[in-house]
Amino acid sequence: MNTPRAVVRIEGRGPVGMALALFLSRHGFGPGSIAIDPIPVALPAWLASRSIALSLGSWQLLSRVAALPPAAPILRVEASLRGHAGRTRLQATDLHAPALGHVLRYGPLHRALADALAARPGLTRTGGIAGAEAALTVAADGDPGAASKVHDFEQTALLTEVVAGRDGHGTAFERFTDEGPLALLPLPQPRRHALVWCARPAESERRAALAAAQFETELRAAFGGTLGALRLDGDRVLAPLQRKVRNPGSEPRRIAIGNAAQALHPVAGQGLNLGLRDAFELAVRLGELRATDRPLDEAAAAFARARRADRAITIAITDALAQAFTYPAIARLESLMLGVLDLAAPARNRFAASLMFGLRSG
Ligand SMILES: Cc1cc2nc3c(=O)[nH]c(=O)nc-3n(C[C@H](O)[C@H](O)[C@H](O)COP(=O)(O)OP(=O)(O)OC[C@H]3O[C@@H](n4cnc5c(N)ncnc54)[C@H](O)[C@@H]3O)c2cc1C
Repeated sequence: MNTPRAVVRIEGRGPVGMALALFLSRHGFGPGSIAIDPIPVALPAWLASRSIALSLGSWQLLSRVAALPPAAPILRVEASLRGHAGRTRLQATDLHAPALGHVLRYGPLHRALADALAARPGLTRTGGIAGAEAALTVAADGDPGAASKVHDFEQTALLTEVVAGRDGHGTAFERFTDEGPLALLPLPQPRRHALVWCARPAESERRAALAAAQFETELRAAFGGTLGALRLDGDRVLAPLQRKVRNPGSEPRRIAIGNAAQALHPVAGQGLNLGLRDAFELAVRLGELRATDRPLDEAAAAFARARRADRAITIAITDALAQAFTYPAIARLESLMLGVLDLAAPARNRFAASLMFGLRSG
């Protein structure tokens, strides 16, 4: 029997909040012990169709708690600089892994997690509990709040989908241009790719308004001919890019995870991955407290300590990748770094492993 004092209240019902509820169910939280916001009536189309690259670590974590929708495996990542020497390939086979990650769309992922929750009847109660009654409130609403530390990259991502003339064989491409990163991610349908093209806001706005043929010409000029012709096949959506980190605050019975704690530039595809690691770590800590009948709010300080390094390093790597290549003076250095990574397999593999699994912290 659960009293409200044993209830974890989750604000927001995005992938991170739902994953937390599912992880908690594997760590001793039974029926009625989790209160979660109701599902939004409908996800907006721009969000439902957004492509998300999940690292192998995230894929494995989620596969344990939900039946995941069809996804495209990433078998290799090819990163290169436009206009400079240097290219690095990260291969799943080098790491003896089935894939470096998987690409799927936000909408089907959201639905799969909602279905997994619905398949555990009684686990979550929607509403019906005030914040003050819960043992712990977890902010997972995707919003770091007005008091967050904001860095504006002065870039806007243009998001759309393209169909390529040639098969990319499961390659995720990342081109670092002097305007910002341009990524093409494989999608489950053959030769179909998600495009994330970051540039100065006015430039992205201009490209969003181009006629399809002109857009395709500019894309080909920026990306090159590796995949043959690239045909535009989707709406063009603009997403202004900022990094926001929540002000930690001092409410002991409140913990923020996922985008509610930190919202990153999408360059390294790490935002959701980082958020899922937040959720997993928190579920483990809360499970331990529950098993030993200790108050759940004891988790806050230990959780913050345990997540500090992974969060700081992932934010720093992401910020550096988002901006470094836009400064010509250091582009050569970065070119060297990519070249070195390609030559030095152990360094490259460590880099890949940290993107796949994050920093395990204790
Ligand atoms: C362009 C882009 C590409 C990205 N690519 C990747 C990637 O490849 N890999 C990766 O790991 N991360 C990626 N991210 C980051 C990733 O989308 C977030 O980190 C992740 O969605 C955070 O999950 P969350 O549950 O914390 O918050 P959210 O996903 O923001 O969800 C929080 C809550 O808000 C609701 N919600 C949000 N907006 C609306 C709205 N407008 N209307 C109704 N409900 C809404 C959701 O349903 C949910 O209840 C990308 C982000 C962007 C902007």
